Amino acid sequence: MKIISFSNEEWEKDFLSKHLPAHTFIFVDGFMQDRTDVSDPDAEIVSVFVSSHVGATEMDRFPSLKCIVTRSTGFDHIDLAEALKRGVVVSNVPTYGENSVAEMAFALLLALSRRIYDSYKQVVETSSFSPKGLTGFDLKGKTLGVVGTGHIGVYAIKIGKGFGMDIVAYDPFKNDALANELGFRYVGSFDELLGMSDVITLHVPHNEHTHHMINMDNIEKIKKGAVLINTARGPVVETIAMVKALEEGILAGAGLDVLEEEDFLLDEDALLHMEHPNGEKLKNVLANQYLIDHPRVIVTPHNAFNTKEALERILAVTVENIEACVSGAPKNVVKSS
Ligand code: NAD
Repeated sequence: MKIISFSNEEWEKDFLSKHLPAHTFIFVDGFMQDRTDVSDPDAEIVSVFVSSHVGATEMDRFPSLKCIVTRSTGFDHIDLAEALKRGVVVSNVPTYGENSVAEMAFALLLALSRRIYDSYKQVVETSSFSPKGLTGFDLKGKTLGVVGTGHIGVYAIKIGKGFGMDIVAYDPFKNDALANELGFRYVGSFDELLGMSDVITLHVPHNEHTHHMINMDNIEKIKKGAVLINTARGPVVETIAMVKALEEGILAGAGLDVLEEEDFLLDEDALLHMEHPNGEKLKNVLANQYLIDHPRVIVTPHNAFNTKEALERILAVTVENIEACVSGAPKNVVKSS
């Protein structure tokens, strides 16, 4: 079978070719929406990562498409309704990185709570070894609000317990047995979590229900001085609401692995060449620069998944997903948002 795979590192190309020798891989650099020069009437499988957007126009370029295999947990970059309409199966990697992403959430949190970046910058730039002005805060005894108690959220809860934090969680699908076992409690509403958490960490998928879950209408409900950590997806938080919260001291800081319109940070040309850039997108692009420059915000480039171990797990499951698609019994099929 012919497989078109976008945006692979060299070692990934070797891994996929070695583990699926019976198939023909065509590796394409760049993102699927940008590589309009790449089309194939015979390719039955396309493999992508999160910066490739797969909609009707992209699917049109591969008329024999049977499966879209994404090398990620999130699948909000793929138009599921369009795939369904065409009978194209979408497979993801459901559980590769619960520890990897939760560890990153705490890396961002600790960087803020212990002023790691400021401390490092001071030592490197001024050679000053004085701790003056670098006072942080303890995690022990603080309330951690975990939004979404799936694979990653639960791992974040376990880590938070290790730090001696009190943990509250919000998820429409409660797991009371797990809450008892791990020693956390579900709050009745999202607003309740916002009002009582010293640290809010987001672990929900991005879909129509979680889009702008933190927004201009509820931002003031956040406990004054809280820290927000987002390793989920940028659009779960309305960017301008986050800017307002930082300006008004509602948020003391933010650790962001993901941003709304983060694709334009990867590819600025795309913004310049957009025929009709909409006002909200442009505003978010500017607001992202404000966040990046903000002294109490740490931004990382959608990197939470990026550990050696997680990448190996992602590719192992991707190989299984491709094999399953070829055999006609697809697995890890994404059903709906
Ligand atoms: P999961 O499906 O195991 O868990 C998601 C949880 O969110 C579920 O328990 C679900 O019930 C809950 N949820 C859904 N809607 C909700 C809502 N409105 N309010 C509260 N909870 C809600 O997913 P996961 O493996 O834990 O991953 C979570 C997300 O993390 C992914 O969808 C992806 O977007 C993101 N992610 C980011 C990176 C990265 O590199 N930054 C890597 C992997 C995953």
